[in-house]
Amino acid sequence: MNKEPKSFDWYKLRNHMVENQLIARGIYDPHVIRAMRTVKRHKFVPIDMLSKAYDDEPLPIGLGQTISQPYIVAHMSELLRISPNDTVLEVGTGSGYQAAVLSQLANHVITVESIASLANEAKERLQSMGIHNISVLQGDGGLGTPHHGPYEAIIVSAAAPEIPEPLMLQLKIGGRLVAPIGQSNDQTLVLYKNIGYRSVLKKLYAVRFVSLTGEWGL
Ligand code: SAH
Repeated sequence: MNKEPKSFDWYKLRNHMVENQLIARGIYDPHVIRAMRTVKRHKFVPIDMLSKAYDDEPLPIGLGQTISQPYIVAHMSELLRISPNDTVLEVGTGSGYQAAVLSQLANHVITVESIASLANEAKERLQSMGIHNISVLQGDGGLGTPHHGPYEAIIVSAAAPEIPEPLMLQLKIGGRLVAPIGQSNDQTLVLYKNIGYRSVLKKLYAVRFVSLTGEWGL
């Protein structure tokens, strides 16, 4: 017998995700935890993926793209150490979920998506959810957005062979950038800090993101 539940207890599923996938694995920033408890991931996944909305994995969102695993979204957000007055740049809007999480932590989020239909869908979705501190732009995010920067924090949600130089240049002194770097099956998450007189690059762990396209892509 097919006993599909008629509806899901999203609140319970989301809190379960936060406890078991995030806090249990070391996510500690209370602001990030609150953001992950607040943003409704099920609003960002395709209808046929709804039952997996809070699972511990990335999910396809169409056009060969994915919404990242909740842990990765939370950890990248935590690594950026965002303050309430910060402006954050995201490269690779996808569904808009990561941007929505960042919008809970920052003053403003600028997110750039290369695929027009995804950019438009994300914009509509975020608007309909009443989130007004995110600007979705369509274009090659590897080039950054010279008119909006520089930024306190930059997050790249697609893998590039190296950190796109325009992004490093659009980072404020004291700013942080987190990005997956490498080829499609050999990527490392890196944290780059601009500390003024020099920069620091920390390699973290292996990840798997879709590839960055455009001038700084593969
Ligand atoms: N952060 C997203 C998931 C990102 S998937 C979420 O929360 O759902 C990576 C996205 O990066 C894809 O949508 C892809 O189209 C986009 N992308 C790839 N190359 C890009 C580029 N050069 N500029 C902007 N977006 C790019």
